[in-house]
Amino acid sequence: MRVLLVEDDAMIGEAVIQALKDAALTADWVQDGAAALAALAVDEHDAVLLDLGLPRKDGIEVLREYRSRGGSAPIIIVTARDAVEDRIAGLDLGADDYLVKPFDVGELLARLRAVVRRKGGNASPVLGGGRLRLYPDSREAEFETRRCRLTPREYALLYALALRPGQILTRTELEKHVYGWNEEVESNAIDFLIHGIRKKLAPEAVRNARGLGWMVDK
Ligand code: CA
Repeated sequence: MRVLLVEDDAMIGEAVIQALKDAALTADWVQDGAAALAALAVDEHDAVLLDLGLPRKDGIEVLREYRSRGGSAPIIIVTARDAVEDRIAGLDLGADDYLVKPFDVGELLARLRAVVRRKGGNASPVLGGGRLRLYPDSREAEFETRRCRLTPREYALLYALALRPGQILTRTELEKHVYGWNEEVESNAIDFLIHGIRKKLAPEAVRNARGLGWMVDK
């Protein structure tokens, strides 16, 4: 899962980015509203954590513009503004959830997983169709009767596929889900991760669509 954090407070930003990385999520960070809209124009994030009090463009404005141009990524407002009117305005403009600072990182991660699951049309806490199951809390995957803990990047890759069972993701798409902006990607990195997942679970846990990409069964 790739998350965009929009937060101008350096201390909070660094703490949240670290927590996202520890949870095997891919994270990008921008520190003002205009940069947030530019990042969202590329549309490669599965979820957005949005502060409201931001330089250059307020979070409410970011939300309004993003939704009005058809942006559909789930958005959680994370802000110190706890006035009921702000909460109502945010939710009415298309935010999916609302968290008031200071917050518990565990709760933030649980809410992130919940909004992404709901968007995928899957309300159950364990992801994946068919024979594959994922356990976000422990970063474990299960294929048939075999259950293993994956590395953060293996988990991120399998999570991206499991959110879209039956759908082929290309190498470039998978790279976007597994790596952030500032991370260098080796040309065979995705092959290496898929090899690792298959070795831990089963060769057929991830299917090859020759020349196109990879998928997991529905
Ligand atoms: Ca702020």
